[in-house]
Amino acid sequence: MLPAIPFNKPYLSGGEIQYIEEAVRSGKISGDGTFTKRCHQFFEQQLGVHKALLTTSCTDALEMAALLLDVQPGDEVIVPSYTFVSTPNAFVLRGAKIVFVDSTSENPNLDVASLEGLVTSRTRAIVPVHYAGIACDMDAIRGVADRHGLAVVEDAAQAVDSFYKGRPLGSLGELAAFSFHETKNIIAGEGGMLVINDARYAERAEIIREKGTNRSSFFRGEVDKYGWVDVGSSFLPSDIIAAFLWAQVEHLAEIQGRRKEIWQRYREAFLPLLKLGIGLPVIPDYATNNGHMFYLVCRSLDERTALIAYLRERQILPVFHYLSLHKSPFYQEKHDGRALPWADHYTDCLVRLPLYYELHPELQQRVIEAVGAFYH
Ligand SMILES: *Cc1c(COP(=O)(O)O)cnc(C)c1O
Repeated sequence: MLPAIPFNKPYLSGGEIQYIEEAVRSGKISGDGTFTKRCHQFFEQQLGVHKALLTTSCTDALEMAALLLDVQPGDEVIVPSYTFVSTPNAFVLRGAKIVFVDSTSENPNLDVASLEGLVTSRTRAIVPVHYAGIACDMDAIRGVADRHGLAVVEDAAQAVDSFYKGRPLGSLGELAAFSFHETKNIIAGEGGMLVINDARYAERAEIIREKGTNRSSFFRGEVDKYGWVDVGSSFLPSDIIAAFLWAQVEHLAEIQGRRKEIWQRYREAFLPLLKLGIGLPVIPDYATNNGHMFYLVCRSLDERTALIAYLRERQILPVFHYLSLHKSPFYQEKHDGRALPWADHYTDCLVRLPLYYELHPELQQRVIEAVGAFYH
């Protein structure tokens, strides 16, 4: 039998074990050690941002963002319905009401044209998700946010090394959250990062991340004792996690190069499917592709179910994801009842194909031929 082609396979650059050993031998394996600092510096420079702080997940980074914005019960936050639960959940934990926005017909990113109509006097923030690492229209989002005095928090979980009009994603909102979960481009098993572009939030971000204490300024010698100064939690990862991540960061360019090659090969192979009405990822002029994800948009749920079954019989394991959150068991009763047809469309029809560093051309060819045979 042919070897199975999984949906994802975590890539190891080779330096992970060595750096973890260095971290362990250094005798300082709690948070904010040498490797954490290296990662912070790298991302602050790469993104050109005020501050980057590693967290234990993107979920945590989003929860920190909700705390930093001081979101209160009854405040409203605009979030796409077609996203991972953590995007709205971080704000729901603070008592916020989620106002779901639909996706566009072009791709699953949020529909900027409908934003203005969703803003009320209680709206505090807009949380765009750069789906598949492809930028949302940030100038349009910024326009709405500025007209109404709202914060923008980018869910950049999938958006490492991707750009909007030449500016790095994660550098465009007041705050941004990245993920280093093993399914993302660069990984730490579980891991994330909060990016602070608006310097007003920087000091409090360090405090919230350190259990509500001013421990970070104490270690920099800015205060002579540290104590409990605010609310907070434990959002910082061990330096062992950062050591793993550093081995990935060092190979970012190579990882990205390979992922984009695979993405491009899929794109070229599947262009003929467009004529059948099958959707492929659309990258607007203002956006770039970071090789995070390749997907097809089938014409119906039945077709997608059949395609996935057909590929599985051939030991190829694609996945679908995101069930419209406005229809989720947890939120459907709280949703205001608006239909969000594009979110539902992607829920039913989008399928993600295997894409990982070690998906060698002969393996990828099996995927390409199997999809081609299904649509023959
Ligand atoms: C992966 C992902 C998250 C969650 O990331 P974790 O690091 O697992 O918490 C949040 N939002 C989006 C859009 C994601 O893809």
